[in-house]
Amino acid sequence: MSAYQADEFEGVPTDAAADLAGVPDAFQRLWTPHRLVYIQHGQQPDEHACPFCRAPEMSDEQALIVARGTHAYVLLNLYPYNSGHLLVCPFRHVATYDEATPEEVAEIGELTQVAMRVVKQVSRCDGFNIGMNQGRIAGAGIAEHLHQHIVPRWALDSNFFPIIAGTKALPRLLGEVRQEIAEAWPA
Ligand SMILES: [Zn+2]
Repeated sequence: MSAYQADEFEGVPTDAAADLAGVPDAFQRLWTPHRLVYIQHGQQPDEHACPFCRAPEMSDEQALIVARGTHAYVLLNLYPYNSGHLLVCPFRHVATYDEATPEEVAEIGELTQVAMRVVKQVSRCDGFNIGMNQGRIAGAGIAEHLHQHIVPRWALDSNFFPIIAGTKALPRLLGEVRQEIAEAWPA
């Protein structure tokens, strides 16, 4: 681990494997330590535990935030479809786009534009998928708190992994990607 990554996880509690029960099985595992944030804090159903409400209370490094505005902020998705997969969220806990205020709508739009420019600059992607899933039936993982996806796309970025194994191969650690995007973000 680099010094940067070690710092990032300082203070994040972990359990010793020897203290836990486990039965070996046939599954292979990709270990993704960033997901500890979700595993340890993200499973409670109450509003207080909403990960998009809690993230701004943490440091940028811990919450994978790349930029904060007045009404909305930008963070890396813990479950990226691609490296540099960002989410733009209002600070306020609102579920759907029609509930957002004009100020929130405007800033979500502005932050989306800046995010596109920054990600284009640092990752030289060829295109983007941008959008919001509204409601669980429409595919929203965290339906209670509005979030816009910004997914950079490269030619030939899909491979056989997701199809045969339900697994995404992601070439870079989220902490590294966060730092690079945050540093390129205009002041
Ligand atoms: Zn929330």
